[in-house]
Amino acid sequence: MDIVCSQQELKLFEHVSEAATKMDVRSYLVGGFVRDKILGRPTKDVDIVCTGDGIALAHAVAATFPHKPQVNFFKTFGTAQFRYEGFDVEFVGARKESYTTDSRKPQVEPGTIEDDQLRRDFTINALAISLNKDDFGKLVDPFNGVEDLQNKIIRTPLGPDITFSDDPLRMMRAIRFATQLDGFRIVDDVFEAINRNKERIKIVSQERITDELNKIMSAKKPSVGFDLLFSSGLLKEFFPQLVALSGVEIIEGKGHKDNFYHTLQVVDNTADKSEDLWLRWAALLHDIAKPATKRYEEGHGWTFHGHEVVGERMVPKIFKQLKLPQNDRMKYVAKLVLLHLRPISLTKEDITDSAMRRLLFDAGEEIDDLMILCESDITSKNRLKVKRYLENFELVKQRLREVEENDKIRNWQPPITGDEIMRIFNLTPSREVGVLKTAIREAILDGIIPNNQEAAYALLIEKAKELNLKTPNH
Ligand code: ATP
Ligand code: MG
Repeated sequence: MDIVCSQQELKLFEHVSEAATKMDVRSYLVGGFVRDKILGRPTKDVDIVCTGDGIALAHAVAATFPHKPQVNFFKTFGTAQFRYEGFDVEFVGARKESYTTDSRKPQVEPGTIEDDQLRRDFTINALAISLNKDDFGKLVDPFNGVEDLQNKIIRTPLGPDITFSDDPLRMMRAIRFATQLDGFRIVDDVFEAINRNKERIKIVSQERITDELNKIMSAKKPSVGFDLLFSSGLLKEFFPQLVALSGVEIIEGKGHKDNFYHTLQVVDNTADKSEDLWLRWAALLHDIAKPATKRYEEGHGWTFHGHEVVGERMVPKIFKQLKLPQNDRMKYVAKLVLLHLRPISLTKEDITDSAMRRLLFDAGEEIDDLMILCESDITSKNRLKVKRYLENFELVKQRLREVEENDKIRNWQPPITGDEIMRIFNLTPSREVGVLKTAIREAILDGIIPNNQEAAYALLIEKAKELNLKTPNH
């Protein structure tokens, strides 16, 4: 088995080999690094295992480099890490693990390299390459991991029920690797074991589950993972709202589309156009409120009125449940969910500049992402229809560009702020301030007054009179 390593990598391995020999321990490259090298995938994570103290070896290796990289270590896990030339180098002592049914925490004791390979999750992650002087570069492959790499198979070294019951996160990892690694398949008995053990995912922290979910989301074709999560039953355990999108109801012979598979298609379409994880989350959640808003209107068919508004409100709840960040990333996703139908409405009738201005104002910085989401939302199987929709969107984009060039509405703030209104009329924060502010903004967006301070001030005085406010004496 030939693998290609850079000069920097070889230098690192020689330093490890040297230090390990001095410490009289055996050391190996292992895990994701070996897997990715054999697959020819670029990798910057180097996993090293040694028979002995991994933390001590990390310190010893770091000390051999002139710049002496800082070693971070976790005593409880017996792992250590440092950075070297853009690589994240991780060390661990070979260990033997045994689990008892009543505890998630395994009994850990020092072990041989074989013991260590046995505790790893999948055969393709259990490959090791020797860094020892006597057999430097030799592949240690007790579970035919190379063969599984060639056949693109995800399989566990131990019985899958044991593997998944010991650490249920591995079920997420199996599906994540099947999504990240092109053409890989989870073998049937392993997939069936995921279904049998799905409920045990509850003992894993949400943060770790969500980490894996984000890796699935960041893959080239996230639908692969969601499809597996769904069909194994795992998705329902931690994300029932997404599962609720699945299925088709039929009344009077009329069905609606399956919103789960539609959503997956939208996520894939978005992933084709952008690497942005949060835009992909917006795609995943854009129709999340369809089950909650679904109605059958006689003679008309299925409707999901207001699903964008209800969906916007569901976003914070889902972010909290999944332990996703409660910050501007969440607000961004909520905003895109709320606005996701707006560009479609602009393709319909004779659209005024003012409608364009309004969308630019409401979307602000997010306008380009919103357009990507909307284009991705077109999943009709009718190619002519898709073509027509996309052409309409091109027209909308063109008009948006023109209006933005003229009026600079994106990131725009009305020429008179709430603070200024309060000062001019000597008001405290109150309903009146809001009314006046809105009046100015609306008049400018509607093109009733020009976008400047003088016109805004004149309108302000006029509206204030209607509210019986005392006109300022200047
Ligand atoms: P990536 O770095 O792309 O996430 P990886 O396979 O390197 O993939 P890591 O989480 O970096 O995954 O872990 C490194 C190695 O540690 C894995 O290849 C595997 O051998 C082992 N490993 C990680 N997590 C587990 C786990 N939950 N159960 C068993 N072995 C694991
Ligand atoms: Mg890794």
